[in-house]
Amino acid sequence: MTAISHHVPDGMIAAYAAGTLGYPFELVVAAHVSMCDECRALLAAHEAAGGVVLEVAAAAPVSGDLKARTLAALDRPVRAEPRPVHRRSGIYPGPVAAALGAAGPRWQTMGGGVRQCILHEGTAGSVRLLSIPPEQAVPEHSHGGTELTLVLQGSFDDETGRFGVGDLEVADGSLEHTPVAGAGMPCICLAATDAPLRFRAWLPRLVQRYFRI
Ligand SMILES: [Zn+2]
Repeated sequence: MTAISHHVPDGMIAAYAAGTLGYPFELVVAAHVSMCDECRALLAAHEAAGGVVLEVAAAAPVSGDLKARTLAALDRPVRAEPRPVHRRSGIYPGPVAAALGAAGPRWQTMGGGVRQCILHEGTAGSVRLLSIPPEQAVPEHSHGGTELTLVLQGSFDDETGRFGVGDLEVADGSLEHTPVAGAGMPCICLAATDAPLRFRAWLPRLVQRYFRI
């Protein structure tokens, strides 16, 4: 694997460590951290810092009731899945393989050879796999919120640079971009948004309504 050059922003790692990200972003961060030593070290540092805060809180003189409740809270699992894991299934990092289940992805054709597999949709946004044929462009779009795109196979280029396997693009509402898949093989990405994408052309907008993206 080539070196990863686009990482999870520090603030997002901190939010992940604190368990405050919604599931779609949490899954993408867990998948990237599973693939990236640098972000794994950063996450460990954040989690250690969080542990220190909890130790200080536990050492402070508090009422017996508060102490009991704090200890009870510490007893519970800190956070539900997804957690970073090294285990992989083909191109899919552990957290994605777990979300897919034993059956693997159920692809839905979107036209032009583009396929998607929706993993989750909810109030915190959506997360899906996208497969883009080699050298094909995704329609130009901007974002109402934030879009995270993690490359699992192949690569894509857009106005901001090149993204290969393991690279994470963080696009906010100010970015209008036209990602183009690299040559040789389909680009498969894990993409999460906290708001619907906004396509500029009318045909993608129709497709968007139909395919709920
Ligand atoms: Zn990283």
